[in-house]
Amino acid sequence: MTVRTRLAPSPTGYLHIGNLRTALYNYLLARKFHGQFILRIEDTDQARFVDGAIESLLKTFTTIGLDHDEGPYLEEGNIVQKGDYGPYIQSERLELYRKYADQLVRDGKAYYCFCSKERIEEVRKQQEIAKLQPKYDRHCLTLSTQEVQAKLDGGEPFVIRMKIPEGETVFTDAIRGSISINHAEIDDQVIMKSDGFPTYHLAVVVDDHLMNISHIIRGEEWLSSVPKHILLYNYFGWEIPIFAHLPLILNQDRSKLSKRQGDVAVEDYLAKGYLPEALINFIALLGFNPKGDQEIYPLQELIDSFELSKVNKSGAVFDHQKLDWMNGQYIKQLTNEELVIRCKTFLEKAEMEIDTVLFEKICFVEKDRLTRLDEIVDHCHFYLTPSKYETDLLIWKKADKQDALSQLQQISLFIEELKENIFDSLELIESSIKRYIEERDFQNGNVLWPLRVALSGKSSSPSPFELMWIFGKKHSLDRIQEAIIKLTL
Ligand code: GLU
Repeated sequence: MTVRTRLAPSPTGYLHIGNLRTALYNYLLARKFHGQFILRIEDTDQARFVDGAIESLLKTFTTIGLDHDEGPYLEEGNIVQKGDYGPYIQSERLELYRKYADQLVRDGKAYYCFCSKERIEEVRKQQEIAKLQPKYDRHCLTLSTQEVQAKLDGGEPFVIRMKIPEGETVFTDAIRGSISINHAEIDDQVIMKSDGFPTYHLAVVVDDHLMNISHIIRGEEWLSSVPKHILLYNYFGWEIPIFAHLPLILNQDRSKLSKRQGDVAVEDYLAKGYLPEALINFIALLGFNPKGDQEIYPLQELIDSFELSKVNKSGAVFDHQKLDWMNGQYIKQLTNEELVIRCKTFLEKAEMEIDTVLFEKICFVEKDRLTRLDEIVDHCHFYLTPSKYETDLLIWKKADKQDALSQLQQISLFIEELKENIFDSLELIESSIKRYIEERDFQNGNVLWPLRVALSGKSSSPSPFELMWIFGKKHSLDRIQEAIIKLTL
């Protein structure tokens, strides 16, 4: 069997974190078995149509780097579709769905329903009062063929509903095992709406079949829809694919992941400077961890070890702290050149101009301290404009104001004597200052603390050597001079 998986998002305007995990697991399975991973846009709900949503979804998809094999792509701002099973945008496949809906009506598996919204609401209300399960009462199933024809000829608006027979559907979910759902809980589902668009249930089954999808991997919220889908597969006489329903993603308090408690759009994470590769690694572990105690997985290792049967059944907590930690790890792994390129985007967004050499040095020094790339903007501010600080901050805990002043005066004279080229090398700066301390038998703290604060204006910062390397001789001396003035006031 060729493994063909798909992500079938509705274009809501952004890519949900949950959908990213669904995409990833579909991708991992397809890559592991050298199959295909397909992207299909499910835009049959016209009421939810958002302008530009497909484009923004495709853009995020490209940035994240889970390359799909078929479906829509964004090329120079235009949507193009590639693959033999297209179109891959459901609103471009309406005739197909109509054809299959008509077939079901002809076969007696579905029926026209002319009930008005008002009538349906009234029936619901009565059922609620009688404490019955709210369901369509099959009023139109009793219409004769002639009555139906007359209504159709008269141009009455209609929907098409599938018949749900009594009984139950038993199926095996690749993650959850055997599942049975009683049909008593299921309404005669509308499969074609009055606007001529299919509902999700018909479109998804038709497309998954026609696109030869072998595994349907999606969120748990779709589990209760499986009986409707299996019935449709059976009505059409089609082979039923493998189903796998992924556990919910939860907030720290174990409620369903929601906007209220943080971002849910992948775009928001990217905009904050989470690396796509870190997001992928983090998301992969929401429900699956091949080795249990390992946290950092290159994509290929995830592909090699992925198995649906190893995916957890219970909800996975989205731990923001862990994501931050992981992002920091991925930032550390970047080469300096790559870090500079990626950080530049954030400077540009903040409309900040900074000398290239200075920026490269800042990136290099800050690399190990960055949790997210957007933090680079703040760091740059600090290098460009000295921070305001209390004079007392210059005083080391084992010294006094007089000592801080004298240390800064002495080291400023020493720095003045240093050759310019020393400042081109972090190592040379460090060794010169260290030698200065040793030769005079000073304590590190007495010298380095006030020096570091004079340069940074902060209680914690990169080392004074790194700061001097970034600032160069003149600017370093200027900052030290400012501190000396502060101490003499
Ligand atoms: N269009 C559905 C969604 O928005 C897809 C569900 C499925 O994968 O079958 O999530």
